Amino acid sequence: MSEPIIVRTVADLRATTARWRAAGERVALVPTMGALHAGHISLVRLARERAERVITSIFVNPTQFAPNEDFAKYPRTFAADVEKLAAAGCDGVFAPTPDIMYPPGFVTTISLDGPAKAGLEDAFRPTHFAGVATVVAKLLIQAQPDAAIFGQKDFQQLAVIRAMARDLDLPVEIIGAPTMREADGLAMSSRNVYLSAAERAAAPTLHATLQACARAIAAGEAFEPTLADGRARIEAAGFQLDYLELRDAATLAPAEPSGDGALRLLVAARIGATRLIDNIDAPRPAKES
Ligand code: AMP
Repeated sequence: MSEPIIVRTVADLRATTARWRAAGERVALVPTMGALHAGHISLVRLARERAERVITSIFVNPTQFAPNEDFAKYPRTFAADVEKLAAAGCDGVFAPTPDIMYPPGFVTTISLDGPAKAGLEDAFRPTHFAGVATVVAKLLIQAQPDAAIFGQKDFQQLAVIRAMARDLDLPVEIIGAPTMREADGLAMSSRNVYLSAAERAAAPTLHATLQACARAIAAGEAFEPTLADGRARIEAAGFQLDYLELRDAATLAPAEPSGDGALRLLVAARIGATRLIDNIDAPRPAKES
């Protein structure tokens, strides 16, 4: 197990990935905000399969947090993160400070539509995706990877980034990776450390409800009553629900019962001071032949 090279400036990052590319090596980037768990590490392992060199960025991006959100208390565990990345075979870590990413005079933001305005996360975090897209665009332009890996855990984010890379002709392959879960189904998240014991015990209800709704839809139940049952179950477990929605998996537009495109169930809910999100595939009912 060799230690990843740690770079903190854009010039060092560019020099590192340029050296790899010059040696004919394919480079994959895994953008993160640190506080790494097995979900992040699964992205690094997927990156290893898709490229000869893997660089992970660790940057708690201030512009994707609203003033009332948890930027200041977001967990920061850099030394432990680097150990986990070394064990996973990551070659490099890019860990810039906010003033490297946003020097004085920084004035540019990417403006988004389509999946970024689907009425899901954007309805509750109106400035979030502009911050995400701008920092991800910067990271892609800085590192110039051949591929970049993003988790399906943040399903709307993945759709926003795919649209951005397509629309701006960014020369990178965007790869989506499956959600890693705890044994009881709770999606792994850096924010799970905020949960009290009682909240942690209630948290698997989100995934259990998604699964129950997906089963009902696959069995041919009507969409709206199924979602109403799911919403009631989540609220009964002590959550304040932001949304439980069934959407077209490609566009995130409301699901059409008569269509045949893939569907996705997406949820966001708050328990105590913690906001959790999750989503799963929702197979359509088998067609009668
Ligand atoms: P974050 O550090 O929360 O910004 O996440 C960095 C990347 O890890 C994003 O692409 C997330 O979608 C992905 N990710 C977060 N949680 C998980 C998980 N449980 N399984 C797989 N990927 C994840």
